[in-house]
Amino acid sequence: PIPRINGDIVFDKVTFEYVANRPALREIDLHVTAGQSIALVGHTGSGKSTIINLISRFYDIKNGTIKIDGYDIRDVTLESLRGQISIVLQDTFIFSGTIRDNIRFGRLDATDEEVENAAKAVHAHVYIEKLPKGYDTEVEERGNVLSMGQRQLLSFARALLADPRILILDEATASIDTETELRIQEALKVLLQGRTSFIVAHRLSTIRHADHIVVLDHGQIKEEGTHAEL
Ligand code: ATP
Ligand code: MG
Repeated sequence: PIPRINGDIVFDKVTFEYVANRPALREIDLHVTAGQSIALVGHTGSGKSTIINLISRFYDIKNGTIKIDGYDIRDVTLESLRGQISIVLQDTFIFSGTIRDNIRFGRLDATDEEVENAAKAVHAHVYIEKLPKGYDTEVEERGNVLSMGQRQLLSFARALLADPRILILDEATASIDTETELRIQEALKVLLQGRTSFIVAHRLSTIRHADHIVVLDHGQIKEEGTHAEL
């Protein structure tokens, strides 16, 4: 097991194929220093999701290495690796239960106060409070009690409460109204603060917030730099 990590991540010549002889990533070299946020951009099929899949070891690599704080992730137990990572996917995972339970997922020991503080920090409290039963409102996995934007904020509250060193975010592409968009951007700033984060970014505003931008093309890094440089 690795102790609580800093979150320094290095990809060294990582080549990966789901299907033989069709590399989804080719010789990726990438260094993300602890606390930095990286936006991954590129066309569909360019390898963005593959990069984030590999960090959590959803697939094992054969060529190249990925190191976290100098530890090869193949030498670390999955439990300790994934214990340091929170993942917020495009299609936010909501399960049947109360909003409180949904935020607490991953931090079952959290008190009601901690749940509410996390929700406040990412601007989710405002809408939760307005629901007839507030935090005790029952939601369904595929239900429509919550809008896309609200689901996104709920997942941010969940990630903030889990307080991981590494955050992975596959940004939703769904269109949301301007006000929710602003709220999400503000929430994102809070969430990214002090953690290493990988964001598959679709919104220009998100890309602007990132410390570093990596442009992928057919599994290779085509360009990288800050928003000002690119
Ligand atoms: P999108 O913007 O559409 O999400 P992406 O940049 O995330 O695209 P990846 O999902 O990383 O792209 O896909 C990279 C390549 O790997 C593509 O050629 C894709 O078809 C292939 N690929 C992705 N997942 C799998 C899988 N589970 N099995 C086989 N091939 C896959
Ligand atoms: Mg993808």
